[in-house]
Amino acid sequence: SDPIHVVGGGLAGSEAAWQIAEAGLPVVLHEMRPLRGTEAHQTDGLAELVCSNSFRSDDAALNAVGLLHQEMRRLGSLIMRCGDAHQVPAGGALAVDREGFSRAVTAALEAHPNVTIAREEIDGLPPASWDSVIVATGPLTAPGLAEGIRGLTGADSLAFFDAIAPIVHRDSIDMGKAWFQSRYDKAGPGGTGADYINCPLDREQYAAFISALIEGEKTSFKEWEASTPYFDGCLPIEVMAERGPETLRHGPMKPFGLTNPHNPTVKAYAIVQLRQDNALGTLYNMVGFQTKLRHAEQVRIFRTIPGLEGAEFARLGGLHRNTYLDSPRLLDATLRLKAEPRLRFAGQITGCEGYVESAAIGLMAGRFAAAERQGRTLEPLPVTTALGALIGHITGGHVSAEDAGTPRSFQPMNVNFGLFPPLDRAPKAPDGKRLRGTEKAQAKKRAMTDRARADLGAWLGEEPAPLPAAAE
Ligand code: FAD
Repeated sequence: SDPIHVVGGGLAGSEAAWQIAEAGLPVVLHEMRPLRGTEAHQTDGLAELVCSNSFRSDDAALNAVGLLHQEMRRLGSLIMRCGDAHQVPAGGALAVDREGFSRAVTAALEAHPNVTIAREEIDGLPPASWDSVIVATGPLTAPGLAEGIRGLTGADSLAFFDAIAPIVHRDSIDMGKAWFQSRYDKAGPGGTGADYINCPLDREQYAAFISALIEGEKTSFKEWEASTPYFDGCLPIEVMAERGPETLRHGPMKPFGLTNPHNPTVKAYAIVQLRQDNALGTLYNMVGFQTKLRHAEQVRIFRTIPGLEGAEFARLGGLHRNTYLDSPRLLDATLRLKAEPRLRFAGQITGCEGYVESAAIGLMAGRFAAAERQGRTLEPLPVTTALGALIGHITGGHVSAEDAGTPRSFQPMNVNFGLFPPLDRAPKAPDGKRLRGTEKAQAKKRAMTDRARADLGAWLGEEPAPLPAAAE
């Protein structure tokens, strides 16, 4: 039969192509790199991670993105398989060696007999002769295709700003001042409890640093960018600094759960954390330090941080635009464009946020397209699962209680428990008593993730799992 076409070999497109190929159908994956680049990509590898190397928490019991990891693994995700195989230590998070990860994804797709990789830009709308297409061209979709989509949807694409964080060479960090420690010594998969490099600032150093950020020269806004709002989850540090002198101390520079072994009796006023960025451990990224400061200003200001006086930067931070569809209005429940159902969308362009979420939507788009081609009906995913909750957010199929009845403006979002329907009953302690505080919050999360696991199992047609033993 005719192949299914996937445009864009990023996180979503790579996963979508894999799912289609695994369903036994031919698929052509069109990727424009290296013929044409983007502002953020630096290689010609598929599924390149453009900024942080973290897939975030891997805790499937208490964290929504950890649950999403687990669901994707159950559905045979290529992105998760390669992520697991190229893990680097990062506390409770799943972080990956970005080069090894991208190489593994590329190699798996190249080796699959059902996959053809075409290195070409799709300039404008995909040819009319392609009857099933997944558009997974991401936040930096090439202009020709973006124009084509805009013409078709008749709507202005919404846009907001995202910024990326700098990466430092490990051997240029002064370990006489900095030290290795994870917050509260937390050891995650493959971690030791000492995975992060920490740089301490006292009160005066912090105050000077905040002033320097506010006064530092920023890259200029282009005209079309002027009215574009920031996405709150990825604010540049200088924007956070402008919101108040203490904002960073309560955000990426919080000093809690860390003790400076060089000066154990004095509490640091603020701390900059760096996280391992590659398998070799030679590169570390500055956690939460997205910025749109000019490059020379970044070097000057970041070298005022104790331990980073001699820092050499492998990459400096930068700013980019993010474009996404008003999906709840434009897409149907299987991610097809209502106005032209041969086109399906996946990844960040649908208004999810993050590597894992983008790959997750790619996974489902691939499965929807394969089922459609094979004349199968795919039961809708339970909205109680992380995958279902995320699709619900995008397609508007599921309206949370808070949203009911109120017109909402669609915002890109990471997966989170707020997207799941509430529990029928509040969980109780084993002795039947009411739970409070952290215990209550954790019990609710456990109940939600247990429900998700059971419901995904039922959707997959699996036998219900035996009840877990009392102690896990
Ligand atoms: P991408 O991974 O960007 O893949 C899209 C692909 O389509 C690219 O390979 C591109 O070359 C190709 N393409 C585009 N147009 C065409 C065309 N017309 N024809 C053929 N190919 C085309 N998420 C996080 O979780 N953590 C982060 O730290 C993070 N930082 C980010 C920093 C930046 C600068 C950006 C832009 C995004 C960031 N994101 C981050 C958000 C998001 O998770 C990633 O962008 C993610 O890669 C999105 O996956 P995707 O598959 O939708 O798009």
